[in-house]
Amino acid sequence: MAEMNVEQQRVAHYAFLASLMPELIGRLSWSRAQIEAHRTAAFRELLRHVRAHSPWHARRTAHLDPCTATLADIVRLPTMTKSDLMENWDEIVTIPGASRREAEEALRKMTDQFYIWGDNVLFASGGTGGQPGLFLCDWSAAAATWAGMARGFMGSLAPLAMRGIEVPQQVRLAWIAAEMSAHASYVMGRIFSNPHNPTHRLSAWRSADELIPELNAIQPHFVGSYPSFIPALAAATKAGELKIEPRVMYFGAEHLSDGRRQLARQTWPQADILTCWGTSEGGGTFPCPNGDGFHISEDLVIIEPVDDAGAPVAPGERSAGIYFTNLVNKALPIIRYYIDDIFEMSDGSCACGSSYQKVRQVHGRSLEMFRYEAISVHPATLELAVLEQPRILEYQIRQTPRGAHLVYRSKGEIDAARLSVKMRQALLSYGLQEPEITIEKIAHLERTAAGKLKHYVPLTH
Ligand SMILES: [Zn+2]
Repeated sequence: MAEMNVEQQRVAHYAFLASLMPELIGRLSWSRAQIEAHRTAAFRELLRHVRAHSPWHARRTAHLDPCTATLADIVRLPTMTKSDLMENWDEIVTIPGASRREAEEALRKMTDQFYIWGDNVLFASGGTGGQPGLFLCDWSAAAATWAGMARGFMGSLAPLAMRGIEVPQQVRLAWIAAEMSAHASYVMGRIFSNPHNPTHRLSAWRSADELIPELNAIQPHFVGSYPSFIPALAAATKAGELKIEPRVMYFGAEHLSDGRRQLARQTWPQADILTCWGTSEGGGTFPCPNGDGFHISEDLVIIEPVDDAGAPVAPGERSAGIYFTNLVNKALPIIRYYIDDIFEMSDGSCACGSSYQKVRQVHGRSLEMFRYEAISVHPATLELAVLEQPRILEYQIRQTPRGAHLVYRSKGEIDAARLSVKMRQALLSYGLQEPEITIEKIAHLERTAAGKLKHYVPLTH
């Protein structure tokens, strides 16, 4: 397929995705035993693959026998960080002749195509942990990762078929995400856009005011966006400026807080409000069809919630982070890779009937915590005061040595006194003495290269 031009390659890749979809949707009805059997086989296959093709992983997994290893053995494998990945890239990658240097060089030259070394897909992540990451995904894993998330929307879109709209050919999809960039959301979204019904791609780098006329013109059935756009889109709906009747509102890539979820539910009562968690390292979850949380794609990944010491955390408790293993991507294997997202697994089965592990919520990232000596404050607590101010369109909460500084963009006046008191009360509730809150209205808030808005900015220690 290396001789194909990029357009042909994309069309072929999309066709491959479509061929994979029935299988991945079918797996949603698997029993626990079927899921476990599949995971064990996939784990063994991964061990076999790295032993043969990845010198770095081969050394680290040498004490496990790929013929007899079970999922319980995963705790016997060492963990890895993004620094490990970047420093040992050339020994981790399994594509003959591939190197980090060549990948970085290619990334600098790539504009609207991200295939490299034949059918492998290259993308970069912004680096919440401070360091940018460079990822390589094989053809089959790229499609499985996308399908693994997209299968969660199918149930919500199905009623459209009954109204004469054949899924997916006539469903109007609008996706507010990164503009042309090496970020996974752009690269994968570009590849897996139906050539006969292209997704309307709107830029997250522009203000909501510019997006509203576009959304009105598209009249999307499905809107994918970041949670940080909810306040502005809700305000525009309330003001009668935004007039859309979506069937699905999907909010991903950033933490969807309870407050923002509620605002979305009130604003689009006829729509399913869906969310799931995903990572550049290989997707990971699909939205629960009941609209409450999401499930881990356990057929594709292993997620181990762990505490500060790396010990497993029980359902119902908040983890300090997770170890992430990608069972499908063979190009750049990721095994027990640390991500600092705070996971809370659900206890027991989900009302939707799925046998896949349910995540009750991901509570942002450990690195976002505001730490005041011995006191750790989750900034989402401060955010509650902001969310009850409907005129605030965008905001950022920045930690200060003795409290927090809120910057915001708004349409009209806000109740600054109430906001300040409530934020102060939130810090007092953690035991912080005489917390200081300052508030500042600004005209523009910077988004990241991926178009996300960083809501919490902790002081770096
Ligand atoms: Zn469910």
